[in-house]
Amino acid sequence: LAKEQGKNTYRFFSQDLHARVEERIKVETCLRRALERDELFLLYQPQLDLRTGRMVGMEALLRWNHPELGVLTPDKFIGVAEETGLILPIGQWVVATACLQAKAWQQQGFAPLRLAVNISGRQFNHPCFIDLLDQVLEDTGFNPGLLELELTESTIMENADITIMTLTDIKVRGINLAIDDFGTGYSSLSYLKHFPFDRLKIAQSFVQDVTSDADNAAIVDAVIAVAHSLNIRVIAEGVETRQQLEFLFQRQCDELQGFYFGRPISVDQFTELLRAGFSLKDICPFEATSGA
Ligand code: C2E
Ligand code: MG
Ligand code: MG
Ligand code: MG
Repeated sequence: LAKEQGKNTYRFFSQDLHARVEERIKVETCLRRALERDELFLLYQPQLDLRTGRMVGMEALLRWNHPELGVLTPDKFIGVAEETGLILPIGQWVVATACLQAKAWQQQGFAPLRLAVNISGRQFNHPCFIDLLDQVLEDTGFNPGLLELELTESTIMENADITIMTLTDIKVRGINLAIDDFGTGYSSLSYLKHFPFDRLKIAQSFVQDVTSDADNAAIVDAVIAVAHSLNIRVIAEGVETRQQLEFLFQRQCDELQGFYFGRPISVDQFTELLRAGFSLKDICPFEATSGA
């Protein structure tokens, strides 16, 4: 019986593995053509200033409209894109498309907003990265002072010497820098003072239970205090509830991003949002200005 069970288990596992390998190859093959076939697109999620309650920026988030599997989120394909190097053309497409769109919104007369774009490790560490950035800024005429690059802790720590040089090249251009998912990687506060970051994004996992987990609340508190003492602004990711928002407001967190105010939305929906001039005060009557 044991032998039979073992065999079944093996067969089950092997079939499962086989299916996953097949799926991966399928994703890779299709991903190679996704760019030419125009299957990639960006959603935009608002970022708000907690003191004024107003929208101050947006983050561009990548989606893939897969011909068979439907709309895929990055966790389904960014890994494959990184391994195959496809992240280089894709990443370049993201930066160019986002800058072009943000510029178009300005040209439609909407107040300029900061535009945050995610940069993968492989993209950041590529020797042509800065040249490609320059090319986009030149082609689109987008104000570098409104562009913000989001890097994760693992990207920053991969090769600290090269990182410092690249970050300096970025800052020289007036482009902003943010650390994404802060707290999920190396989580060393000491490196903050060595790198020229403008903003720190507190990871969703900490924000999620600030109101129920005293340890997370203490961590978020400490991170805000340290960041502020180093002149780095703090944005909380994944804010979903009124309670989280009030906690962050009380703790002097600068900005927030999350489903509570707005999910990532299409260009058309975002245009509507800009037109409506919606602000946090509309949904949050606790008087976001009372601390100012
Ligand atoms: P991220 O940069 O940390 O982006 C925030 C993620 O959290 C997004 O997931 C967003 O949809 C989600 N999110 C925002 N607010 C909430 C909330 O209140 N609750 C919950 N549960 N989730 C929230 P998404 O769009 O699936 O992206 C996942 C990750 O994929 C991103 O995490 C980023 O690391 C990566 N990514 C997205 N777009 C790009 C891109 O253009 N290039 C690269 N290299 N990576 C990207
Ligand atoms: Mg991000
Ligand atoms: Mg993040
Ligand atoms: Mg992330």
